[in-house]
Amino acid sequence: MKKFDRVIVFDTTLRDGEQSPGASLNIEEKLLAARQLAELGVDVIEAGFPVSSPGDFEAVKTVAKEIRGPEICGLARAIKGDIDACWNAVKHAKRPRIHTFIATSDLHMEEKLHMTRQQVMDRAVDCVRYAAKLTSNVEFSAEDAVRSDFNYLCQIVESVIDAGATTVNIPDTVGYSIPSEWGEKIRQLILRVPNIKKAVVSVHCHNDLGLGVANSLAAVQNGARQVECTVNGIGERAGNASLEEIVMSLRTRKDLLV
Ligand SMILES: [Zn+2]
Repeated sequence: MKKFDRVIVFDTTLRDGEQSPGASLNIEEKLLAARQLAELGVDVIEAGFPVSSPGDFEAVKTVAKEIRGPEICGLARAIKGDIDACWNAVKHAKRPRIHTFIATSDLHMEEKLHMTRQQVMDRAVDCVRYAAKLTSNVEFSAEDAVRSDFNYLCQIVESVIDAGATTVNIPDTVGYSIPSEWGEKIRQLILRVPNIKKAVVSVHCHNDLGLGVANSLAAVQNGARQVECTVNGIGERAGNASLEEIVMSLRTRKDLLV
């Protein structure tokens, strides 16, 4: 099977899942959950957001040291200090991954980041290049991709792949899409970005309209090869696509889905 012909299961229960109310986990709890995820056979465990607190840094580092099998990933804003913290935590893993992100919708760039499109583009490229010097396994997320200008989204995806991103994640951050629209967006992105074959296309679908799994599957049918998900679909607000529903759909309907 060719590298991009399988769907990579990226579990973010320990990062996005932990952002659901009351779900905060200590180091021992994260380690226990990570062991079970490794046992389940997920491909990637996003273990946390190392710069967010000393406790989370230690938790990600411990998971990276102890868990064998899945890649161990940490989240980092597109800020060099975040990327350094992330690397110092995940580098103990056999297969570490740095996941860096920045918002690409006009709304978030203006209201949250106070940055122009060009500034965001430059920052994304700089940070991916910086992370790629630390590891060859770099994921970039265009936060709020769903509300981003599509041409701009395609340009930034092309630029970060040139800078060394090996996975490009397209999130429906606010859980706003419906499956036909979301699948078409992924299909168009793959058609438009000339170097897209150098990276794995990933999706991260929130469940505000109850469509997280449906949107993720629509993306897979249109060429996405990584799905981000959580156990029981826990996560911010209404949660994420659920790991077990994604995996069982892919397994049960592999005649249609991949
Ligand atoms: Zn999320």
